[in-house]
Amino acid sequence: MPNSAADLAIVGAGPAGLAAAVTAADLGLSVVLLDAGRRPGGQYYRSPAPGLGAERPQALHHDWQAFASREARLRKADRVEYHPETHVWTVLPNNEGWTLHARTNTEQPTTVHARAVLLATGAYERQLPFPGWTLPGVVGAGGAQAMLKSGLVLPGRRVVVAGSGPLLLAVAATLAAAGARVPAVVEAAAYTGYARSTGTLLRNPAKLFEGARYGAALARHHVRPLTRHAVVEAHGTDRVEAVTVARLDRDWRPVPGTARRIPCDALAVGHGLVPELSLATSLGCATRTAPDGTVALEVSRDQRTSVPGIWSAGETGGIGGAQLALAEGELAAHAIASSLGGPTGGEAANRLRRTRTRLRAFADAMAAAHRPGAGWTAWLREDTDVCRCEEVRTAEIREATDELGARDARTVKLLTRAGMGWCQGRMCGPAVAALCGTGPTPDRRPLACPVPLRHLAELPSDPA
Ligand SMILES: Cc1cc2nc3c(=O)[nH]c(=O)nc-3n(C[C@H](O)[C@H](O)[C@H](O)COP(=O)(O)OP(=O)(O)OC[C@H]3O[C@@H](n4cnc5c(N)ncnc54)[C@H](O)[C@@H]3O)c2cc1C
Repeated sequence: MPNSAADLAIVGAGPAGLAAAVTAADLGLSVVLLDAGRRPGGQYYRSPAPGLGAERPQALHHDWQAFASREARLRKADRVEYHPETHVWTVLPNNEGWTLHARTNTEQPTTVHARAVLLATGAYERQLPFPGWTLPGVVGAGGAQAMLKSGLVLPGRRVVVAGSGPLLLAVAATLAAAGARVPAVVEAAAYTGYARSTGTLLRNPAKLFEGARYGAALARHHVRPLTRHAVVEAHGTDRVEAVTVARLDRDWRPVPGTARRIPCDALAVGHGLVPELSLATSLGCATRTAPDGTVALEVSRDQRTSVPGIWSAGETGGIGGAQLALAEGELAAHAIASSLGGPTGGEAANRLRRTRTRLRAFADAMAAAHRPGAGWTAWLREDTDVCRCEEVRTAEIREATDELGARDARTVKLLTRAGMGWCQGRMCGPAVAALCGTGPTPDRRPLACPVPLRHLAELPSDPA
């Protein structure tokens, strides 16, 4: 079993983990960087597969240089041991720090010992089900973006983009620029929600400019966002052929008599992102409910979690975008180096803290504006699959809550199997929590990904 030891182990090589790795190495730490992906860059900076021969991968990205410069530093950094295609399944305390257990994509076990751990595991898309959401041709909004960035393919020729959050504008603009027709961008929230945070918006002119740029790009393609509307049904037999869009009230309940049909051959839909906290919650890190209604890690001004020796950067501390993730990664590296006896961050750390505070305030304003209203469950039908892995329908979940007395997602899972499938509740978790009438609860699972039984059997009897 390959073994590594380092001052710092970083889980995730997205913007946060990558920035932290190269900064920590510059500050003198030895670093092991583990990432489930094939290339660094995480969800945002996705490179096309080399075989596709893309000449300008940066064309599909905003601020590619921020990534390219750090990736170049990673390639040169002899203090960083980088393990791509390696999934960390658990982190355990030992006498001198932490032991991370991982497996490669070819099922090889890997163990890393480190004095400190930075969790930069990012986020995944929040899906709110609706009738027809499991039809072929219905993809995640971020998933559509990922298909284009990594595979240079469009999910269809005529793509409706729907859900909620700033990602929708970026996705629609990219799809349109790549040649797709976008008959509608359907946003469930009202942009007037931003009016409550005018001061924060004005302190982030670059972000406002980015939004305006996407708006202008869509206007050039004659696409006008339809706010306070949602796709309440997807239609088709072998794949999606049309969607029904309806106006929503303030609580996201469809307004009767407002439904209309829009023909399309693909639907890219997402309702924001959910922090990936499997490793953090199994370590007992404290969480908070973020303004978008998701569960995020509680972190200090230096990116410490509540568990000494465990740090967090990027989306794990709340959804906030790639620029914020870069700043938090660098700030965490300074703080960790200082905690391990290295130099204190000084003015560089102060500057990063100010950037982080400004960008985090913007992220919180965005998150609050796009928080799903409780009324969205009104667009579910009794036969709508809520848990698509285990094919558990709305009616079965309602039976568990209304007749069998389930009061939380865990009890619903035990009664119906919702959340027991391959994705382990990452898809259906928010929907099941909403149907239970509970707020979001932190995911707790001892293993962050599927692990062959032989890896468990090979662990020493004292696994740390
Ligand atoms: C599907 C999707 C599409 C997006 N598209 C856009 C977009 O178009 N525009 C935009 O501005 N923002 C987009 N975002 C948001 C943007 O990606 C994030 O703001 C940014 O990438 C956050 O950086 P991060 O480093 O915190 O996390 P991420 O970029 O998510 O990186 C986390 C990394 O951790 C790895 N990881 C997670 N768990 C483990 C584990 N247990 N073991 C090993 N590795 C692990 C993941 O494979 C990933 O590489 C998207 C997000 C998602 C989820």
